[in-house]
Amino acid sequence: MLRFDTMLYGPWSVMKLADGVQVLELPMQSFSGRSIIHPTLIWDDDTVVLVDAGFPGQLQQIREAMGSAGVPFERLDKVIITHQDIDHIGSLPDIVRESSHKVEVLSHEEEKPYIEGRKPLIKMNQERLSKMLASLPEEQRKQMEALFRNPPKARVDTAIEDGKVLPYCGGITVIFTPGHTPGHICLYLNQSKILITGDALVAVEGELRGPNPQATYDMDAALKSLKKLTQYDIETMICYHGGVYRDNANERLEELANTLD
Ligand SMILES: [Zn+2]
Repeated sequence: MLRFDTMLYGPWSVMKLADGVQVLELPMQSFSGRSIIHPTLIWDDDTVVLVDAGFPGQLQQIREAMGSAGVPFERLDKVIITHQDIDHIGSLPDIVRESSHKVEVLSHEEEKPYIEGRKPLIKMNQERLSKMLASLPEEQRKQMEALFRNPPKARVDTAIEDGKVLPYCGGITVIFTPGHTPGHICLYLNQSKILITGDALVAVEGELRGPNPQATYDMDAALKSLKKLTQYDIETMICYHGGVYRDNANERLEELANTLD
């Protein structure tokens, strides 16, 4: 398995949002430079769920960050993948392999063949690859080329559909939000009114933003998905890119959904 340790930097940290909900803040370096990504850890006495699995090579960071949240990696039961992009499935194969008991992997049906490696990842085509590689220094370019030749893949055990309430940790509602990828999902935590946005929304310098056209597979679908999210009563959002957003989340979402029409 490829290691990207040289590309990771800085310390990870965790942030508590509610009882049994913590955001892992993991630094990484990828095609577009340094950034922090935000997988979410959700747990109660019975079940431990991780939402999204970081970039390749982040298993150790995830393990340590979970430990510091007071939830040992060995307790992990389920990994829910919001979508197929490499910064969300990167360490999934390592997580599945390293977990002491069988971890169940869940995603939307549409994303399954990509995550399992039966179809090439939608955003890893030759054109994108050439563009990204050209912008990287020599050492990173080699690592990235190797990664593109052999992208992460892992079995998906359970396909989850729109509207399903997963009976863990007070109820986790699956919201099908295609656009960023064909099978993107967001997750709504019924108890804490937290929305895990995946990449349907991003926070930039404390401001909530809609889908970035350059990173979006189907912009029309992505905008429809934003509208769909306005049906939920959201107190806090966790954006995988940009982190926690709390400032009148419902209103801001409504505004975005209307202005981006
Ligand atoms: Zn992403």
